[in-house]
Amino acid sequence: MTDTLHLDQRQRAMLAEMGVRVWSPLSETPVMDAAVVEIEQPHGFVAAGELATQAIADAIKPAPILIQRPDGIDQMDWSTLHTTVSGCQACSLCSSRQHTVFGVGAPAADGQAPQVDWLIVGETPGEEEDLQGKPFVGQVGQLLDNMLGAMKLSRTGARTAEGGGVYIANVLKCRPPGNRNPKPEEVAQCLPYLERQVALLKPKMIVAMGRFAVQALLRDSVPELEGTPYGKLRGRVYQYQNVPVVVTYHPAYVLRNLSEKAKVWADLCLAMAHLKGSE
Ligand code: SF4
Repeated sequence: MTDTLHLDQRQRAMLAEMGVRVWSPLSETPVMDAAVVEIEQPHGFVAAGELATQAIADAIKPAPILIQRPDGIDQMDWSTLHTTVSGCQACSLCSSRQHTVFGVGAPAADGQAPQVDWLIVGETPGEEEDLQGKPFVGQVGQLLDNMLGAMKLSRTGARTAEGGGVYIANVLKCRPPGNRNPKPEEVAQCLPYLERQVALLKPKMIVAMGRFAVQALLRDSVPELEGTPYGKLRGRVYQYQNVPVVVTYHPAYVLRNLSEKAKVWADLCLAMAHLKGSE
């Protein structure tokens, strides 16, 4: 990565932590790994045994009674939306969750959506997220924090006159058991909550992390999305609710494929450059 961003020592250290090398074009030759590998699991740390056990448990468990999602999500204010998600039983994931995971981000006035330039959209809560009720925790969260730090952002920092402010949310607000992939009907049930979050947050840039985030956000605007290899979706700026969207790899995937860190940094640079150019 050529250092055209005038990074200070701390940001360089964060990039080093991410495994991204910063070099001067006069002194070093870039090293980029060109391999593209598909994402198979949103949180790929599940032992096969756990999945099998969970599949049996799912099979013998009686189907929960689903309570229909309330009408008028598209009119809800932030606190009503948050309360509604906390009590949601609109899909079977409500029966196995410990907590709903609404999102975290910049500080906000009571009951109001935080003012942010950036929205990070992940896929589904994992085990730790489910326990803590927060998205992107543990090692995955640490890597995301390092990425944000390298962008001179933080997950809880307020938006200033120079911009900034981040909110982090997932497509699904409840954890699929055993970290299995979300089912289409679960995504369909949950997506109106994210749609409303976007409408209330009014971010200037969305970073979509992972296949299920990309499918949820771009399914109406990108033809043949499902058949397109994930890596080929990178490197362009899309639109969702008139907000620019950049696609990158999920930090959980990057932790398993460390050579992809440079690509994530390239994607984040694309997002920063686009945001700067549109101001
Ligand atoms: S995943 Fe979404 S739709 Fe399903 S119960 Fe949780 S909040 Fe409701």
